[in-house]
Amino acid sequence: MSSNEDLFRKVIAHAKEYGFIFQSSEIYDGLSAVYDYGQNGTELKNNIKDYWWRSMVQHHENIVGIDAAIFMHPTVWKASGHLEAFNDPMIDNKDSKKRYRADVLIEDHCQKIENKIHKEIKKAAKRFGDDFDEAMFAATHPRVIKYREQIQEIKDRLYKAMDDEDLEGIKTLIETLEIVCPVSGSRNWTDVRQFNLMFSTQLGSLAEGSNTIYLRPETAQGIFVNYLNVQKTGRMKIPFGIAQIGKAFRNEIVARQFIFRMREFEQMEMQFFVRPGTEKEWFEYWKEERMKWHFAMGIPREYYRLYEHEKLAHYANAAFDVEFKFPIGFKELEGIHSRTDFDLSAHQETSGRKIQYFDPEINKSYVPFVVETSIGLDRTFLAILSHAYREEKLEDGSERILMRIPPFLAPIKAAIFPLVAKNGLPEKAREIMDQLKYDFMCHYEEKDSIGRRYRRHDAIGTPYCITVDHQTMEDNTVTIRERDTMKQDRVSIEKIHRIIADRLKIGKD
Ligand code: ATP
Repeated sequence: MSSNEDLFRKVIAHAKEYGFIFQSSEIYDGLSAVYDYGQNGTELKNNIKDYWWRSMVQHHENIVGIDAAIFMHPTVWKASGHLEAFNDPMIDNKDSKKRYRADVLIEDHCQKIENKIHKEIKKAAKRFGDDFDEAMFAATHPRVIKYREQIQEIKDRLYKAMDDEDLEGIKTLIETLEIVCPVSGSRNWTDVRQFNLMFSTQLGSLAEGSNTIYLRPETAQGIFVNYLNVQKTGRMKIPFGIAQIGKAFRNEIVARQFIFRMREFEQMEMQFFVRPGTEKEWFEYWKEERMKWHFAMGIPREYYRLYEHEKLAHYANAAFDVEFKFPIGFKELEGIHSRTDFDLSAHQETSGRKIQYFDPEINKSYVPFVVETSIGLDRTFLAILSHAYREEKLEDGSERILMRIPPFLAPIKAAIFPLVAKNGLPEKAREIMDQLKYDFMCHYEEKDSIGRRYRRHDAIGTPYCITVDHQTMEDNTVTIRERDTMKQDRVSIEKIHRIIADRLKIGKD
């Protein structure tokens, strides 16, 4: 097992043991790719939502938030193109009976060639030492050039076949590349079939005549169909944005990566409406803003990278992914898309309602263009959790698991312990709890030794532990222990509120 797989396994086990994430309906052996958030997970998730909401809605005068229903009129999905085009090509291996996304099998194959390039570069860097010019080497070395050409050719063929919905072409490509099933090792494949990712259900009883409706696969459409309502009632002037946090549902073909790929998940999306022709500028603006948001959490920058899409979704004219270094590798965390006027125009045409903006500055009406930022709440959670997990050996030979969750997002901000459960110490600790609990999520605990109480809170990422001891009763001071350094200071009780508030400032870590 690689160390990354090992880390991933440990994070999953820790998430369960400490009440962050449970498998859905676990007592019935769980439901595939569906998860429940436990007592600590829910706090962390709410804090991430709050951080996103404040930075989008509260800090931007021209962005407002809505909360649209999950069920929408079925025609929405016809207009948006999801009924036609929200498909993934799937293929089964007849020996292992495993199902794969055909495009992912081919992209993984390209990744293997990419790895060969990295190997060549690493080898050469070792050979040439300080004089090594990586860019020059990559541009001129015959084997690297050959590998790059191979990747390009495969991707060109894949994207063309996907655009043309040429399922046979995709299968031929898998056969030509001699791709084998990672489980059975065989090349015994079925044909490639299209699979629509939307879940459907029935609205109304059968007797009344029922209607097929869909669980939304993205929250964005709830924003588009409310564009006119919000623009008019909020007297919004372009450029302006509408933000929303909510559940989305996708019947994912491959869903075996914990909360990275779920069938029910949450998105935090913001659609920014702009004058046509200015979308490229806004696209750049939002790329930068969103990176700032990520970096302010304090996770090192090398955990993030921007990836430009070569294959664009049916609605986009430019797209970047913010990728995060998860234990399963660099993977998409957020999408920033220039969606043109695709959605609003489609709804205008299908509904027959005029969806236009009169721009007094240029004295013209138009259908606004859209720049979207779309981030997975669960993936953000996983990014934070997997980066936070750390096993530490302490000086006294013992070990602790430390969750380095950014303090402002931590489920519990302060834990308050009486050293012993007698002599008036619990009452004093409760007094401190009462002083803090209206502003911070706090925990009161009197069971077990102080050491064990510290360990429990290290393992859920609590930034501060406050201990009331005998001295407290004499001089009104307590010890306050900081999570990461384990440093303890003795401070007077009046100062605690300030210390905690100061540490919780965003970007402080
Ligand atoms: P992927 O390529 O990984 O399937 P996507 O490109 O389809 O993702 P988008 O449609 O751009 O994803 O959705 C925006 C965001 O929603 C993604 O960046 C991701 O964080 C989140 N997301 C999408 N699908 C899932 C899922 N099945 N489980 C959890 N989060 C998801």
